[in-house]
Amino acid sequence: MLKHIINDDIEIFYNECDQKYIGKIISYFELYYKDVMNYFNISKMDKKIIIRLWDNSDSFRDELKKVTGNDMPFWAIGSSKNDRNDEYSRIDYLSLKEIKKIDYHKDETVADLKKGILHEFVHTCNSQSCNYNYPKEYFLTEGVATYLAHQYDNCELNVPIKTILDDVDYVEYENYRYLFNKLVELYSHDDLLDILNNKTKLDYEKVINYINDFSK
Ligand SMILES: [Zn+2]
Repeated sequence: MLKHIINDDIEIFYNECDQKYIGKIISYFELYYKDVMNYFNISKMDKKIIIRLWDNSDSFRDELKKVTGNDMPFWAIGSSKNDRNDEYSRIDYLSLKEIKKIDYHKDETVADLKKGILHEFVHTCNSQSCNYNYPKEYFLTEGVATYLAHQYDNCELNVPIKTILDDVDYVEYENYRYLFNKLVELYSHDDLLDILNNKTKLDYEKVINYINDFSK
């Protein structure tokens, strides 16, 4: 594999097929990763971060099943694994040619890929910031990841807000991003960080009232 060193803590491993766009991925990462760390008040990562691109999706799925014990959903193309006792944190992501083989992702671009890798890094920082005691609500952890990775920038809510808040299995990233934008308006950075760090709970009533008010 080929290797690029971002700094003492972060390394990216990639393949020949990634060479034509790896520069774009690295420059996007270098542009934003310190902002992500700052958002979580992290001055230094507590362990090494290994980012790896996979040019074979079967190997990618086998490896992640081995390290997490779970089968990846068919639509999953990236993952971050961050546990307190792990020697290093890891971000695994498919190469663009493998992503495009999945029908659901056939139109993905390098721009999507570079944002996706930054998205996984947000999970890594959130994990360290909450001392590996991650909030259970996907809409929080995925919301902040889409927000800080600049994904789905101009999205609108397309389901009632209660659908997202009430259903732990509900997955739609555009709606997570919309909701997180509202949380940024509604809470101070410190208060939102306490929620992301699992120290306080989100006030659902406050959120529902605010979003309903907004749409009137
Ligand atoms: Zn995510």
